Amino acid sequence: MSTEVSTKCIHLENDSRENFYGAVSYPIFQTATFAHPGVGRSTGFDYSRLQNPTREHLEKVVAALENGVDALAFTSGMAAIAALMELFQPGDHLIVDSDLYGGTIRLFDNISEKNGLEITRLDCSAEAILNNIKPNTKAIYIETPTNPMMNVIDIQKISRITKERGIWLIVDNTFLSPYFQNPLDLGADIVVHSGTKYLGGHNDTLSGFLVASSTEISEKLRFIIKTTGAGLPPFDSWLILRGIKTLGIRMEKAQENAFKLVHWLGQQEEVKRVIYPGLTTHPGHEIMKKQSRGFGAMVTFEVCSKEFAQSILNHVRLIQFAESLGGVETLITYPVTQTHADVAKEQLEKNGITESVLRLSVGIESAKDLIQDFDRAFREVKQEN
Ligand SMILES: *Cc1c(COP(=O)(O)O)cnc(C)c1O
Repeated sequence: MSTEVSTKCIHLENDSRENFYGAVSYPIFQTATFAHPGVGRSTGFDYSRLQNPTREHLEKVVAALENGVDALAFTSGMAAIAALMELFQPGDHLIVDSDLYGGTIRLFDNISEKNGLEITRLDCSAEAILNNIKPNTKAIYIETPTNPMMNVIDIQKISRITKERGIWLIVDNTFLSPYFQNPLDLGADIVVHSGTKYLGGHNDTLSGFLVASSTEISEKLRFIIKTTGAGLPPFDSWLILRGIKTLGIRMEKAQENAFKLVHWLGQQEEVKRVIYPGLTTHPGHEIMKKQSRGFGAMVTFEVCSKEFAQSILNHVRLIQFAESLGGVETLITYPVTQTHADVAKEQLEKNGITESVLRLSVGIESAKDLIQDFDRAFREVKQEN
């Protein structure tokens, strides 16, 4: 029997709660270590760097949501990606998409290359990948839709290439969350999440996840988390568990609001273009209809000038000018100075991330109030100029 995603967010199959007095909310096991019942015996838990019951419960929920064999919870998305890079040896070659989260690009450019990994940045179409695979290529790393330009990559198409050659396909699924997309079902080998975003959903806790499609990958990652020590603490694990309970209704409402804002923005003469894969005119729309259950709530738009973009940031009130995404609050981000500040200028230009580009993470407020806030901000900025 297959359980619907919104139910999986709340109920774990084969969940045994009998030890916890029937507690409906999973307990927080705030302990660093666990006493052994005897020599050579263990309760299944030895030390919280290796494993902790609250973290384990969260990991089971995330593994179930992504249809993975195992999931590992880290202190942040970047901690998860940094641990993931430990799967590779100096001399290994990775093909990574050119439009990725800025922090991921910074990690690849400054840490992974220093550690001897060879990295090729591409717009990850099937043809481009085929032309750049080498004997030492070990993995392809993508996000879809990409951040912030919302390019859509056909996961299944890429996975046919990687599966044939024994190359891992790694997909950062942060932007859609497992509510709207499950890359492992489409042939990916490892899924990455910044749990700070939609999974947590409240802009109050950092976390990251790696979801494995096989026990082979899971065992390697378990060794890395045990050895390098960035496992998510019990209280933060509990906060993310609580956030996930409402993932379904948050994603639905945020997406509904996104469509309304996209419509409004599209009617403003100061807005040059709105980039949202839910639009039938978006080049990735059909692929997304095939591989995802929704289009998410991330919207990128370009206004008439750098000055206009910056003034909007100063005039929004309800909508907050802040980094991050995926929370209940609507946030507006300026990629050139925030999320992508460390990305090389040529790369930014190539990706079309100009000084007139703004990114919205649409929250779950009333769409009417969000539009009113924008409407007032737009009018004030026009009066100023
Ligand atoms: C935020 C983000 C990350 C990094 O996660 P943190 O939790 O901030 O460390 C990675 N990938 C994507 C797509 C993100 O949005």
